Amino acid sequence: KFQPATRMDGLALSEIVQISERAAELRAEGRDIVALSTGEPDFPTPPYVITAARDAALAGQTRYTPTAGTAMLRDAIAHRVGAARNNVIVSTGAKQVLANALMATLDPGDEVIIPAPYWTSYSDIVRLCQARTVTVPCQMTDGFKLSPKSLEQAITPHTRWLMLNSPSNPSGAVYSADEFVALAAVLERYPDVWVISDEIYQHLTYGEFASFAAVAPALKERVLTVNGVSKAWSMTGWRIGWGIGPSALIAAMTAVQGQFTSGASSVSQAGALAAILGDRALLAERCAVMKGRRDYVVSALNEMPGLQCAVPDGAFYAFPSCAGLLEDAGGPFDSDAAFCTWLLEEAGVALVPGRAFGLPGHVRLSFAYSDTELSDALARMAKALRGLT
Ligand code: PLP
Repeated sequence: KFQPATRMDGLALSEIVQISERAAELRAEGRDIVALSTGEPDFPTPPYVITAARDAALAGQTRYTPTAGTAMLRDAIAHRVGAARNNVIVSTGAKQVLANALMATLDPGDEVIIPAPYWTSYSDIVRLCQARTVTVPCQMTDGFKLSPKSLEQAITPHTRWLMLNSPSNPSGAVYSADEFVALAAVLERYPDVWVISDEIYQHLTYGEFASFAAVAPALKERVLTVNGVSKAWSMTGWRIGWGIGPSALIAAMTAVQGQFTSGASSVSQAGALAAILGDRALLAERCAVMKGRRDYVVSALNEMPGLQCAVPDGAFYAFPSCAGLLEDAGGPFDSDAAFCTWLLEEAGVALVPGRAFGLPGHVRLSFAYSDTELSDALARMAKALRGLT
């Protein structure tokens, strides 16, 4: 009989996958379904990236690369932030950077502070490392952001990491430099707590962007900055992300990666190098398109009965509260998940319930879709919700 390892305990099929599978089933039955459930830009990878990757493959860059990434790519990443090559690891997506870091540092019983709502993989990777997630709920009224006070209350002698994500998936919240400085002031009193700052949505920020490591230089020796090409350059399938941090941590992460996957794809690394050295005008153009979609989606959501949506300052997700539709408020649904199931069956629109991100009472809608898909989905939602009253 198949017996999973104890580290698998509680590791369920993600709610995002479940929703997508149900949407696929309905489609197979002939229903017309619009899914706004995935976190992937609808733009193509820039052509200059594809050309560079093709040229690299034809020139023979098709062999194993050094485990931590090619010297050229690591240097280009390091150069942009004034770091050295040994402060950089290139991995198979930002996700593997996170997995390497947690695998290299966590022992059973260790704690990781994760402000909610958070990207679902954070807590699942912590679970696979047999460590414990300490969730700190951050409500819409607080901008979905962690306050210095709640941070301090969550720290215990077992805390190893604080995981920050700005701009955030799923809330779109962006921390200002001052907000980061205030969190850093708390952390200065706890020298054993390290910080992961996941900045994968950096180039999809609609106002100012602050990088934690840059505004908290006193913590430099215990910050891992995570970034990559997946979102800004529409390169999700190329699987290239990177971590920038203290060399001893990077060396330990490289040792982990060396046993799981070795160096990331050579051809993808050549593509990523072209992306980060290439013309940045395209990023600004794409960010402006996303901003237009954000404004449209947020105002449409705020006109729907029972929903209340804050304006996301980054990333491409709206995370409205559906509290007005839940039983406590006299509404018909007993949970955000029940609302999502109803919306899928009734209106053919797939969203993800907030509880998947550790903050129930909300739903996540990705606006990384075409204007036609967005207006179709929002019209269906508005119609279905009006039918409830
Ligand atoms: N971090 C966050 C917050 C994300 O939303 C995602 C993707 O959804 C990732 C990391 C993973 O990025 P990658 O595709 O480069 O592994």
